[in-house]
Amino acid sequence: MAETTTGSRSVTAQHTASPDRDSITIRLDEVRRTIAEACADCGRPAAQVALVAVSKTHPAESVAEALAAGQRIYGENRVQEAKAKWPELRARFPGVELHLIGPLQTNKVKDAVALFDVIETLDRPKLAEAIAAEQAKSGRRPRCLIEVNTGGEAQKAGIAPTEVDSFLAACRALDLDVVGLMCIPPVDEEPAMHFALLSDLARRNGLPVVSMGMSGDYPTAIRFGATHVRVGTAIFGARPVLPAAGG
Ligand SMILES: *Cc1c(COP(=O)(O)O)cnc(C)c1O
Repeated sequence: MAETTTGSRSVTAQHTASPDRDSITIRLDEVRRTIAEACADCGRPAAQVALVAVSKTHPAESVAEALAAGQRIYGENRVQEAKAKWPELRARFPGVELHLIGPLQTNKVKDAVALFDVIETLDRPKLAEAIAAEQAKSGRRPRCLIEVNTGGEAQKAGIAPTEVDSFLAACRALDLDVVGLMCIPPVDEEPAMHFALLSDLARRNGLPVVSMGMSGDYPTAIRFGATHVRVGTAIFGARPVLPAAGG
């Protein structure tokens, strides 16, 4: 996905190093208002849409500000980063729900199952098997979303739309708690058709959770049936550009 590239790198770094605390609270309010408006526009109760605040790369002080403003659902894309950041925040702020939204390597499944309440990136049979094995060992059973490659992009993770039904059946046979679907549409395409496809796949499979929409397109995702929107930049500001790596 595209990082925000407006502004010079030094401006971005400065912003991240000393976050303007008030502005996080203000932007969080704006995002909540935008969600409520998008819901009103399409006749959906606002309570049907949960905000997943994407705090990846942002320091604990920034996250604490959002926590103090009442935000409780967060998304992180790397297991290691979440492991370093969240235990302490969780001790300070009860009631947090943590979502893994980045790729999960099988050698990090143990940590992921221990840390996350929801794994949004269940994207291949090997990972399903690894989560099932860890569930049996740890007794923890995170909710899972199947990541769907709605754009059929060769380089992108996710289950092909035509394979969702059979992959879901396989996951259920492993006793995984699959509650929904997520997607990241291709950056260069109109997202609406991808959102419509994901909603339809979820509806046909009786799955209640549909995770889609980011800072640039979450009102559209809500119109197409998102139950969870994953918003980072619009709340926390631009992220420093980091090398890509799986979590
Ligand atoms: C980073 C990320 C987001 C948030 O993106 P923004 O454009 O900053 O809102 C949402 N979903 C996933 C999977 C991400 O990796």
